[in-house]
Amino acid sequence: MDYVSERKRLVDNLVSEGYLETQSVIDAMLKIPRERFVPEAMRNSAYADCPLPIGEGQTISAPHMVAIMTEKLQLGENHVVLEVGSGSGYQAAVLAEIAKHGFIYTIERVPTLVEYARNNLRFCGIRNVEIVPSDGTLGYSKKAPYDRIIVTAAAPKIPKALVSQLKEDGLLLIPVGNRFLQTLVEVRKEKGKVFEKNHGGCVFVPLIGEDGWN
Ligand code: SAM
Repeated sequence: MDYVSERKRLVDNLVSEGYLETQSVIDAMLKIPRERFVPEAMRNSAYADCPLPIGEGQTISAPHMVAIMTEKLQLGENHVVLEVGSGSGYQAAVLAEIAKHGFIYTIERVPTLVEYARNNLRFCGIRNVEIVPSDGTLGYSKKAPYDRIIVTAAAPKIPKALVSQLKEDGLLLIPVGNRFLQTLVEVRKEKGKVFEKNHGGCVFVPLIGEDGWN
């Protein structure tokens, strides 16, 4: 299969469907080889616009969801980002490509996926990402505050630690709802106040942890 052509076809579709519009996000999704972030047996499906299983009952998000979240994040090339839910490492790779002079800290709670994501990122030669094996509902205070925080698992509520680890003028994106359906919520911190905005429905696997689901 010609993965480069398949990737271009997928990205062109995401542009014409209105999911992608920012050049840096388009370039990142054209560059990162999604086929390297899915199990070998699934590689031929890597450019279908759907989530795919990556083991441990977890998934790599659908490309249109990666596009929506990355666009809404309004990422700059110097930004320091916290991702909760590394999974395959694909979203982190896209973020790392855009924030090329910044850094991505990404937290994963499942040890085999920590190794999986590490190997995938290493294979792709991506260096500005650190995978932290931990409970992301508590954030990662060691490197806080963050310009951007992105949570790629479904939370019952917005974890307090994540809001407190967000910089002034920072932006947090998180799916909030029940285990079956959530709303993508944007949280902004301005002059010490917190503002929330809803961006419509989405479906993610649960965020499991001390300030998430049991
Ligand atoms: N961003 C990922 C990617 O690009 O492949 C997809 C994330 S997948 C939809 C959600 C991930 O969140 C799973 O790998 C799951 O193990 C992880 N997760 C769930 N609860 C977590 C927590 N409290 N801390 C860190 N990771 C968590």
